[in-house]
Amino acid sequence: MRTKLIKTEAKEIFTKTKLPGCDLVINQYVGCEHACSYCYAKFISRWRPQDYGKWGCWVEAKMNAPELVKGKYVEGSVYMSSISDPYQPIEEKLKLTQMILKNLDKRTKLSIQTKSDLVLRDIDIFKHEDIEVGFTVNTFNQKQKDIFEPCSSSNEERIKALKILKKNGIKNFAFISPMIPELIDLNKVIEDTKEFTDYYWFEFINTKGVGKEFMEVLKKQFPNSYEILADKNKMLDFIKESKNIITSKKIKIKGIEMH
Ligand code: SF4
Repeated sequence: MRTKLIKTEAKEIFTKTKLPGCDLVINQYVGCEHACSYCYAKFISRWRPQDYGKWGCWVEAKMNAPELVKGKYVEGSVYMSSISDPYQPIEEKLKLTQMILKNLDKRTKLSIQTKSDLVLRDIDIFKHEDIEVGFTVNTFNQKQKDIFEPCSSSNEERIKALKILKKNGIKNFAFISPMIPELIDLNKVIEDTKEFTDYYWFEFINTKGVGKEFMEVLKKQFPNSYEILADKNKMLDFIKESKNIITSKKIKIKGIEMH
């Protein structure tokens, strides 16, 4: 399906945030072609015209974003991005993320997170600045990925990209999410990445944030997972077991998010 592209102009590009571990966010895109069915940002579609279509089919691009960062130093840590992926497919053509990186004050402490190995295109920019790059990584098989994250790089490609970043001296991190009972294999994902990953964030699935539609899909297609999520005691066991695995590994943990 073709993406509906809406070109916009913004007044500001740095926005204050309460997200853990950062002070400001940059969203040069609103909307995301990766179309993850569990995306917490998809609620934004409610405030967009109906003809935009569903989440994943439209992207607003703030065309003046590269100009807005020029000559502007901001204190604190900046996260890119919270309601879009800075390296979703449209970036290959528009290059907004790349132009922002080139124009950004060199002292900016920037943390980029993506699900696309297109990020490797900008490796030479990362080498010269205070930028860390993270990948969302999980252990969905192909059937699960087609349902949950249909349009992003494969898990293998993301892990390979983490390795390439490390090899090039760029600080990296793995965001292990969403942690869904029966569908996440923590031992595997940590063992597959720990040799070349600087630090980890973990996130249990946010059952409210993912919305009713997602929970219905889970109930139908993965009833065992749904049953655990719906049962407080079973969920507490899952959390306890997951934390035991995480803390038994010799890895640097920045956070374990629960909602
Ligand atoms: S990549 Fe991130 S922002 Fe994009 S749809 Fe998936 S969860 Fe949402």
